Amino acid sequence: MSAIDELATEFAKLPGIGRKTALRLTYHLLKQPTDQSRRLAQSLLTLGERVRPCERCFNLTEEALCDVCRDPRRDQSVVCVVEEASDIGAIERAGEYRGVYHVLGGRLSPLEGVGPDDLTVARLVERVGAGGVVREVIVATNPSLEGEATALLVRRELSAAGASEVTVTRIALGLPVGGDLEYADGVTIARALSARRAM
Ligand SMILES: [Zn+2]
Repeated sequence: MSAIDELATEFAKLPGIGRKTALRLTYHLLKQPTDQSRRLAQSLLTLGERVRPCERCFNLTEEALCDVCRDPRRDQSVVCVVEEASDIGAIERAGEYRGVYHVLGGRLSPLEGVGPDDLTVARLVERVGAGGVVREVIVATNPSLEGEATALLVRRELSAAGASEVTVTRIALGLPVGGDLEYADGVTIARALSARRAM
């Protein structure tokens, strides 16, 4: 495979990038000074080396604990459960939520071979059980079939662990069904959070 094809193939693996855009990006880079490409390559390497999951909530961070977990102003008694770390950015941009998070690392998807053990549900149960600080778990998985199945799994696992003093709520469906939290606007997210209901 030629160097051009090789890079274009890598670009085409990224979300939202088709073969045509991949080639355009590749040719664009060829026209730039070599330094530019070197910086890009270095950034990609640094990203992989520095960024890791938060030890408590699995949000992405360059420290042991993420910004949210380290912030003393955040309410540790409310935990918002999301599928991906990128969902946190969307909720933070809405600017209303003051609690902390837990990133599941995906959603149940039998078709893609993702089962309960591939998610961080057990760590959530552990976290909720330890110390008894948590009084509410808000399940903010996406309003898709997989997202709903994942929400039910979280509910079931928390019940099974006997976390009965903890209220489990689900964000309201102000979000379009089949939609993606990550791309929802701030007002929609704020409304979905404030209109959450007990599961
Ligand atoms: Zn964290």
